[in-house]
Amino acid sequence: MQPFIFPWDPGHEVDILCIGAHSDDIEIGCGGTILRLVSQFPKAAFHWVVFNATGIRADEARHGARLFAGTNLRGPHLKQFQDGFMPFVGAEVKAAFEELKPISPKLIFTHNRKDSHQDHRFLAELTWNTFRDHLILEYEIPKYDGDMGQPAVFVPLETDTCQKKVAYLLDSFTSQQRKSWFREDTFLSLMRLRGMECNAPSGYAEAFYCRKFTL
Ligand SMILES: [Zn+2]
Repeated sequence: MQPFIFPWDPGHEVDILCIGAHSDDIEIGCGGTILRLVSQFPKAAFHWVVFNATGIRADEARHGARLFAGTNLRGPHLKQFQDGFMPFVGAEVKAAFEELKPISPKLIFTHNRKDSHQDHRFLAELTWNTFRDHLILEYEIPKYDGDMGQPAVFVPLETDTCQKKVAYLLDSFTSQQRKSWFREDTFLSLMRLRGMECNAPSGYAEAFYCRKFTL
């Protein structure tokens, strides 16, 4: 497999937009990749936007964003759209996306267009509506509904990066630990499978869907 690298100068600031419907989505979907990018591009700016972050979930979102992006964090920008209802207040969510346009990111992390959760799917659609000439990587979220697909873009990760990701997830999102799937082995297993699919040296990777990019 031929590896491609991000075409950025490590010494320059690069804007990266991270979009998540709920307060743990960005971290679950691409937390390992963000940790890798932070160390690879020390001047990267991570613009962090969560569309449903209220009450304790807002506190958790702030904690998670700070752990993963550190001093590279911009935000987090926390919004209060109701969980599960985002497609039904589309005009308001669309308006929130319009406010993100000035960021002009070099890379965008967002949900998968075919995700079975309606909020995830809707935000993926609006990401493509809003950013039409950008590199967009759609991350995956394991869930009870069962919608795992076949992503084709892989980011190999060191073992200690994966362990740090999982430790940060469990530390940040304590309210989610009542969910039977919110466990270390779920997160490590998915990264292990994706690592196997891309022959990652450590055995671990995160995977993404990319609808289009140029070479
Ligand atoms: Zn979610």
